[in-house]
Amino acid sequence: MFDGRFSDSLSNVRMSPIVSISEEVRKRAPQFTQTTGKKFVLFQRGEIDFSTPRYVVEAAKKALDAGFTRYPKSGGEDGFKDAIISKLRDFNRVDGLTRDNVAVTYGGQEALELSFKLFAGRKGAGFAPTWSCALENFIPYADIDFVEVPLKKDFSVDMTGLEEVVRDIAFFYLNTPQNPTGKIFSEEEVRAIVGLCAKHGVFVVSDEAYERIVYDGQRHFSPLSLPYENIIGCYTFSKTYAMTGWRLGYVATRNKRVIDLVRLGDYTQTAGVVTFLQHAGKEALENRVEEEKAVTAMVSEFQKRRDALYEGLKSVEGVEVTKPRGAFYLFPSFSALIPSGLSGQERTMYAYDRLMDKGVATVYGSCFGRHFGDNLRFSFSMTTLDEIREGVQRIKEIF
Ligand code: PMP
Repeated sequence: MFDGRFSDSLSNVRMSPIVSISEEVRKRAPQFTQTTGKKFVLFQRGEIDFSTPRYVVEAAKKALDAGFTRYPKSGGEDGFKDAIISKLRDFNRVDGLTRDNVAVTYGGQEALELSFKLFAGRKGAGFAPTWSCALENFIPYADIDFVEVPLKKDFSVDMTGLEEVVRDIAFFYLNTPQNPTGKIFSEEEVRAIVGLCAKHGVFVVSDEAYERIVYDGQRHFSPLSLPYENIIGCYTFSKTYAMTGWRLGYVATRNKRVIDLVRLGDYTQTAGVVTFLQHAGKEALENRVEEEKAVTAMVSEFQKRRDALYEGLKSVEGVEVTKPRGAFYLFPSFSALIPSGLSGQERTMYAYDRLMDKGVATVYGSCFGRHFGDNLRFSFSMTTLDEIREGVQRIKEIF
């Protein structure tokens, strides 16, 4: 007889709090507009308001017309894998990979879920703040005992004590450029972190979802470019090509045993990634001229928004904000504006609630772990410059 207990791994997983925030916005927006005549400013979601580039859409249609509708090859189609290997060589500066070093997945999400699953029941660590989905989904799903290693207030890495943590874990989750801070880990930082992991035989799960969303002429330094076998690179088409709804990504690593396991995991869960999507993914990577045009246009618009939001928030007295160099988030601290007597849930929700009452939706800091509860995440991936100015103006009216 069934004893009423479903598996812990699923029962312990939660929907992202960002989803409930969006639901709350949907409920409150009509009333807000009725009383104020204004719209909500939506800084809460990581969705992108750009469309997938035409050339990728056309490639998907062509693949469908050409009849690429049958079961995919497990682990990924050869031609798509070859395109991925070339991209990793030319963009990420990762040399020497073959098809056995790559497995295609449903987005970065499945790439990461399977990578965390490799270490089920073990101990891992990563920098805090940490992307909410890792905390709410991958970690409980794989029953990982996760140590949050806080970045400093300005999001620089505190190397003291890091070795103590690394000594004691199976894997380190490194996300660069990072959600929610927009921090790009410098080459020096990446080398130091990977060096520690290599010294102690610890795997690195390298989440490079925002690899192409970088500003100020910076370059993403790919952890996978370092010659350490146990780095698991997790990649996605969602951000670079505004393909969030396509669910296309991949894992790449020098460790072939990891690829075998990821392939088995993906096969078990999905029987493989939609065949015609892989053909579109191949074209996305191989048409470098169209790719460059699309990515440059999107990133230069994001950079304008980043500048407007950064300057705006910086001009709010009491808000402490670090300029993001990548991704499309800012993660300012509202510490100085929160009454010092507040603690726990009341403290966490103080700034968030005030902004919400003014029709400004953000994500409260505790969604990203234990250490940055006074911060709010602002996403600018869906906001116009006018909305950004309006949002900042409303925040100035609150504090
Ligand atoms: N990593 C990070 C840090 C992210 O923010 C996201 C998406 N928000 C992903 C990975 C995965 O994205 P997707 O599943 O759409 O590829």
